[in-house]
Amino acid sequence: MPRSVVTGGAGFLGSHLCERLLAENHKVVAVDNFLTGSRDNLAAFKKHPNFTFVRQDVTEEMRIPGKVDFVLHFASAASPVDYAKFGIQTLKANALGSHKTLGVAKAKRARYLLASTSEVYGDPEVNPQPETYWGHVDPVGPRSVYDEGKRFAEAMAMAYHHQHGIDVRIARIFNTYGPRMRLGDGRAIPNFVGQALRGEPLTVYGDGSQTRSFCYVDDLVEGVWRLLTADAVEGPVNLGNPDERSLNELAEVVQKIAGRHVGIVHKPLPPEDPKVRCPDIRKARTVFGWEPKVSLEDGLRRTIDSFREQIARKGT
Ligand code: NAD
Ligand code: UDP
Repeated sequence: MPRSVVTGGAGFLGSHLCERLLAENHKVVAVDNFLTGSRDNLAAFKKHPNFTFVRQDVTEEMRIPGKVDFVLHFASAASPVDYAKFGIQTLKANALGSHKTLGVAKAKRARYLLASTSEVYGDPEVNPQPETYWGHVDPVGPRSVYDEGKRFAEAMAMAYHHQHGIDVRIARIFNTYGPRMRLGDGRAIPNFVGQALRGEPLTVYGDGSQTRSFCYVDDLVEGVWRLLTADAVEGPVNLGNPDERSLNELAEVVQKIAGRHVGIVHKPLPPEDPKVRCPDIRKARTVFGWEPKVSLEDGLRRTIDSFREQIARKGT
């Protein structure tokens, strides 16, 4: 039975990934310090006989007894609000945390998968972004703790590949959403859904003409699984949904699917907010036959249902 270590396992993506790996008959060790994740995210599978949880900061020495076949490094704040608040922790999770987890992969001769991001492209001057685009990043700007942390992590993963022969896979993940996001994490979809369900107007930053491309979590997890298990993959691979929408359009769709016409209010655009973002997914299509299947409307329906349940259960 393959054994996988998932850092950030109590987070949004990490917990879905643990669940998928368990369903694929992996033994799973999740590592998390609950900086932005929670025990609730583990509830669906924490009693599974093949699941163990280690409460640990990934920036510290990591000792995982026994064999390990795969290391998936997902620990890092990911919402712009979270990483602005936890700037140093974000840089450390991506720099020191990548070093420590690559060390585990080297010691165990395990395959390594890094959760990188579309943010490595910064405020892109090319749209859609192919993996060959080098990006347009302000190294001292408000998003630099995240962008540069991930760029360092990618460089570190490649150095372990070249110097130590580690089989590394780099997923450049574009905006992903779904159940288990924190309603208050500050990202566009949980904000909009929470506001619509509370009957408040949606807060659109700037004039709302900026674009993003939103991928439903099940599609993303399928992409990560294929990237992890494909025979050989050279270099980073974009994983995201190429259905590009403006934030104004997103606000319309959320209201339609939630069945609440609450309107919008414009708020100031955060500095250096990327104007466009859309993945070129030709590489994922060609190398391992992946593309997203869930439409924005269907994904939002599932997400809104789960947030409704969460609000009924916890009142938040
Ligand atoms: P999340 O905040 O829900 O999950 C991050 C998890 O990492 C949390 O459980 C947090 O407690 C944990 N963590 C943070 N620092 C840690 C540390 N030092 N030690 C141990 N655990 C730590 O965010 P998410 O959306 O699930 O993102 C997960 C990963 O995917 C991140 O690496 C993020 O950069 C990447 N990613 C996500 C998206 C997206 O749209 N969701 C897009 C691009 C990249
Ligand atoms: N945004 C918005 N209203 C909100 C939250 C976010 O208009 O309540 C915008 C934000 O300015 C950005 C886009 O939505 O242009 C996506 O933001 P998010 O925080 O989800 O992630 P990003 O893609 O910026 O990392």
